[in-house]
Amino acid sequence: MISRGHEEDARPSPSPEKGWIKADFHLHTAEDPKDLITYSARDLLHRAHTLGFHALAITLHDAVLEDSSLSETAINLGIRLIPGAELRLEGADVVVLNLSKKEAAEIHKLSDLAAFRQRRGKSALIIAPHPFYVLGGSMGERLLEYIDVFDAVEVCHFHTAWFNRNRRAIEIAEAFKKPLVATSDAHRFHGFGRHYTLIEADPDAGVEGIFEAIRNHCVKPVSPDMTNAQLAKQLWCMFVTDKWNQWQARRAKRG
Ligand SMILES: [Zn+2]
Repeated sequence: MISRGHEEDARPSPSPEKGWIKADFHLHTAEDPKDLITYSARDLLHRAHTLGFHALAITLHDAVLEDSSLSETAINLGIRLIPGAELRLEGADVVVLNLSKKEAAEIHKLSDLAAFRQRRGKSALIIAPHPFYVLGGSMGERLLEYIDVFDAVEVCHFHTAWFNRNRRAIEIAEAFKKPLVATSDAHRFHGFGRHYTLIEADPDAGVEGIFEAIRNHCVKPVSPDMTNAQLAKQLWCMFVTDKWNQWQARRAKRG
């Protein structure tokens, strides 16, 4: 059951009910090698702390952020920071959690995920992000072919009452008994905090404890519909502000 309604009605609660942890496992920050993002991983951690998050994964495009001082900040803020990446494999994005830089560099094709899965067993988690969104990298119907390597299917944040490409993903997740996780796939600071997953697990459960709770469907994805005004803002950011910033950055680089 996905908690929806309108975004305004779904202000992130600073402290979810006892026994549940608040998590977002698909996030981008300024350290991203592909996208131009204006807030750092450290900014995001502090914001997450304010919003009552217990677990995060910063999933840069094709890169794992390994930074011990960042991990230390996360510990001090009471946030479990799980290493991860959003890998583009044969044109399809895949979110892999709890992997190292070295492991990420060894995954090139969708078929490599099976070997990774076998090697790592339950200590890693593989999510199919926005599988039916055509902009960017989506798996589409290939999700069916590779469904066995996935632990969970993402509910993409980009939906309104009248536009929702999550329906097919939800149908497949239900058919194959895969849990749904909601994420913000944040590329902008204001895009973080409204879409997340509540997981029934102890805040002190290790990474594997959290993954186990997800696999056991002890999750409540929270993903409210965008209002038309929020949709307009998002599209403006994607197609105007971001493009302008990218152009400025390229110009600055050229000197
Ligand atoms: Zn992403």
